[in-house]
Amino acid sequence: MRFKKALATVGLVAAAALALTGCNSGGPAAPAEDGAKEPAASSTPWTVAEGFTLEGSPTFDNIKERGKVVIGVKEDQPGLGYYDNVTQERSGFDVDIARWIAASVGFDESNIEYKAIASANREQAIVNGDVDYYVGTYSINDKRKNDIDFAGPYFITGQGLLVRQGETDFQTLEELDGKTVCSATGSTPIQNIKENFPGIKPQEFDLYSACVENLVNNQVDAVTTDQAILIGYAAQQPEDLMVTSGPVFTEEQYGVGLSKGDDAFRAHINDMFTDGGDVWQDIFDQNLGDSGIKVSQPAVDAY
Ligand code: GLU
Repeated sequence: MRFKKALATVGLVAAAALALTGCNSGGPAAPAEDGAKEPAASSTPWTVAEGFTLEGSPTFDNIKERGKVVIGVKEDQPGLGYYDNVTQERSGFDVDIARWIAASVGFDESNIEYKAIASANREQAIVNGDVDYYVGTYSINDKRKNDIDFAGPYFITGQGLLVRQGETDFQTLEELDGKTVCSATGSTPIQNIKENFPGIKPQEFDLYSACVENLVNNQVDAVTTDQAILIGYAAQQPEDLMVTSGPVFTEEQYGVGLSKGDDAFRAHINDMFTDGGDVWQDIFDQNLGDSGIKVSQPAVDAY
């Protein structure tokens, strides 16, 4: 069921629109003198496994043979999956979850290749083997499970609304009847408004950042997607944008997208989440600690 009653999975402190984007960057970084490749984060809560092996995992066999990990990510979602063109750094909660997984199978930052893949193209990229796994605000659902598998969940949020700063008329999707609401192609929120809110005019783009641009330019009336994503955009442009204070109206459980049937790899990631000690919390604190989002690590659902 897609449209659920309000779920208080995310506590939002609207005023805490702190600079999610500024975690790693204090302006353009000077190039390293010796040309050595610096790890993206100054301190990482995980350690890189040594001598790791995994029986019966085609994904791990590919990674080992290639000598590097290829990870599908988002790069326009501040706080979650973001690439800073100036500093050339990737940051965000999802990116660090992806790095933690790579480290758990023996690969550090210098042996990771990232591929930015939009919401609509995720299943196909995994099925094609373009990526070893995908970490990017990817909700676990049965339709997607027809094509791929998910490890996790590792995070829970819910669908919310982003509007122009000072806009008080729109708190719920019901109040947007007759209005234009933007979301990403192939996402659960665009599907929700198309299926359950026939009065809303849906506008879709590949990327949420395009929706946000259209909101700022008065081309759409609201942007809808997971509240955790919207908080990152509001933090980037607090004078222009705000997340509505109403409760979220779906539950989105984020999973790691995996090649279907690689049970060994899925079990490995699930065990990593379950036995990870403080690592999850440290990753959350480093990336979303100032965001006002209040969540704890969800229990793994090892189906
Ligand atoms: N979590 C939702 C989804 O997987 C929305 C965010 C996204 O498009 O990545 O569709």
